[in-house]
Amino acid sequence: QAKNKGKNQFSIYTTKLKEERLWSTRIEQLLHNAVENHEIKLNYQPIINLETEEIERLEALARWDHPELGYIPPGEFIPIAEENGLIIPIGQQLFKQACEQLTNLHQKGYTSIQMNLNLSLLQLQHPDFISFVKALLKQYKLCSKDFELEITENIALSNDEMVIQTIQSLKSLGFRIAIDDFGRGYSSVGYLRTITVDTLKIDKSYIWDVNDDEQTARLTAAIISLARTMGLEIVAEGVETEEHLEFLKTHSCHWAQGYYYAPPVGKELIETLLERGVTWKKQMEY
Ligand code: C2E
Ligand code: MG
Ligand code: MG
Ligand code: MG
Repeated sequence: QAKNKGKNQFSIYTTKLKEERLWSTRIEQLLHNAVENHEIKLNYQPIINLETEEIERLEALARWDHPELGYIPPGEFIPIAEENGLIIPIGQQLFKQACEQLTNLHQKGYTSIQMNLNLSLLQLQHPDFISFVKALLKQYKLCSKDFELEITENIALSNDEMVIQTIQSLKSLGFRIAIDDFGRGYSSVGYLRTITVDTLKIDKSYIWDVNDDEQTARLTAAIISLARTMGLEIVAEGVETEEHLEFLKTHSCHWAQGYYYAPPVGKELIETLLERGVTWKKQMEY
């Protein structure tokens, strides 16, 4: 009996694995077309300055609406694109889109709005990354100070000479650097001794627990104060409720991002968001 059950579970497991592998292979094939046809677009999520309650930054997030398969989340296709190298052309297309959008917003009079972009390890390891970025800024007449580049702790922790050097070059060009998903997984703060960053983005999982778990609340407060002590800016991600916000304001967090304010929206909605400010959520349906 027990033996049979074990066998069954095993075969369910292998079937699932096979399905997952098929799915990845399928995505991998489709990604090639996606690059050629420019199917991957950016959406933008506001980052709110909690002192002024103004949207001052937008995080650009990759969106892939496949003509047949529908929406495929970045959590699914980015890792595959990182594996097969397509993240390089995808990253270039997205950086370009972000520049286009930012230029457009600046021209419309939103001159102080800034853009956050997520970077992958592979992009930072690419020998042409810096010259690509420089050329883009020149082409769009944009300033490096208008951008914050988000890297994960894994990247900060990678002891890759090339990567550290690229990050330093980006810093000296004037880009701000943020650590994304700060505190997620088995993290370390040791890299903060060697890599100069500007911002920590506290992982969503902390924010979701601050009102229910005393230990998480203390740790989150400590992270905010760590950031302040080090002269870093701190962003809370995944802010979904009034209670989350209360906690963050009580502990003097600088910035908030999350569904409480707004989800990521397509480029056609950004101006509406910026125009209406933080009162939009009462007036708008997504
Ligand atoms: P991330 O950079 O940490 O982005 C924040 C994620 O949290 C986004 O998921 C966003 O939609 C989601 N989010 C924001 N506020 C809330 C909230 O209040 N509640 C909940 N439940 N979720 C919220 P998304 O867009 O699915 O992106 C997932 C991850 O994929 C990103 O995490 C980032 O690591 C990666 N990614 C997205 N776009 C890019 C890109 O252009 N390049 C690279 N390299 N990675 C990207
Ligand atoms: Mg991010
Ligand atoms: Mg991330
Ligand atoms: Mg994050």
